[in-house]
Amino acid sequence: MRFSALSIFREALKKNTGWAPVWRQPEPKRHYDVIIVGGGGHGLATAFYLAKEFGVTNVAVLEKSWLGSGNIGRNTTIIRSNYMLPGNEPFYELSMKLWENMEQDFNYNAMVSQRGVLNLYHTDGQRDAYARRGNAMHLEGAGGELLDREQVRQFAPYLNFDHHRFPILGGLLQRRGGTARHDAVAWGYARGADMRGVDLIQNCEVTGITRENGMITGVETSRGFIGCNKLALATAGHSTVTASMAGLRLPIESHVLQAFVSEGLKPVVDSVITFGMGHFYVSQSDKGGLVFGGDIDGFNSYARRGALPRSSMCSRSACR
Ligand SMILES: Cc1cc2nc3c(=O)[nH]c(=O)nc-3n(C[C@H](O)[C@H](O)[C@H](O)COP(=O)(O)OP(=O)(O)OC[C@H]3O[C@@H](n4cnc5c(N)ncnc54)[C@H](O)[C@@H]3O)c2cc1C
Repeated sequence: MRFSALSIFREALKKNTGWAPVWRQPEPKRHYDVIIVGGGGHGLATAFYLAKEFGVTNVAVLEKSWLGSGNIGRNTTIIRSNYMLPGNEPFYELSMKLWENMEQDFNYNAMVSQRGVLNLYHTDGQRDAYARRGNAMHLEGAGGELLDREQVRQFAPYLNFDHHRFPILGGLLQRRGGTARHDAVAWGYARGADMRGVDLIQNCEVTGITRENGMITGVETSRGFIGCNKLALATAGHSTVTASMAGLRLPIESHVLQAFVSEGLKPVVDSVITFGMGHFYVSQSDKGGLVFGGDIDGFNSYARRGALPRSSMCSRSACR
């Protein structure tokens, strides 16, 4: 079903009895052209665009838990393209343009809100670095405004401007940046992929990758062997684990990035504010919870657990 104001109105008249499940629950087939491991944002987007842009629909996404159960459903929801390096900025600016049209593209409300991302600076050196970064953003058409202290005060008057160690001298603002409900992004991509014939298979953990003469032939899973011609791994922090099943040792390590959400409060933070000196950033969700982002844990881990020291560090930073 296509979502629209008309369909909502029609369903309201029918007491919302006509909504169908947003995607199917298919049994895995014996063989697919493409298998994608990982039902997060990247895995589901890959399936969606393979089907939509390239007409490749004999595709399965295998997810060991539920769709969107990984990072995509636990992050701080920020969207932005305020980077500096040549490899980074055009890549993120392309992403920003995708964000700006995504809801129309997959006909799903991902709550994209371009409420502005403000990076605070507290020293002259930081200001110069942000000036450079802002110029790099302009070269890619990403926008970016270097604000002085008074302009920041107008934008976010509730901040503490006179902290004894980190007084706010100004900030770099990207007005097009903001937030999006990332798990809704996963659901939107999932629905769009499913509608085009992609099989989304949940509770299906990949436990091994089979090869013959150096070519991948399929995957061993908790639901049996599934063959494929091509295999994509989109398992984020578990990439080293899944790649090692194919004999690849990736030169990366995994850390947990910590974030947490307060109980719902009245609207108080209407943009995204980053306080780099404190490894801290904050926004407010549409439900009212303050969304706090912190630092990574200081050790390697595949866990998805919160950590009290980081939460307390974030809370201290928020109160500065
Ligand atoms: C605390 C935090 C805050 C963040 N904040 C932001 C932010 O504000 N803005 C932003 O853009 N990004 C943010 N990120 C990063 C962003 O969330 C990730 O880059 C993105 O979600 C990664 O998507 P993914 O699809 O690659 O991974 P995931 O969403 O993690 O999906 C990977 C999936 O693979 C599955 N999987 C793993 N192993 C197997 C297996 N063997 N078999 C089957 N399935 C398997 C997992 O269950 C998981 O569902 C944040 C991340 C964190 C942790």
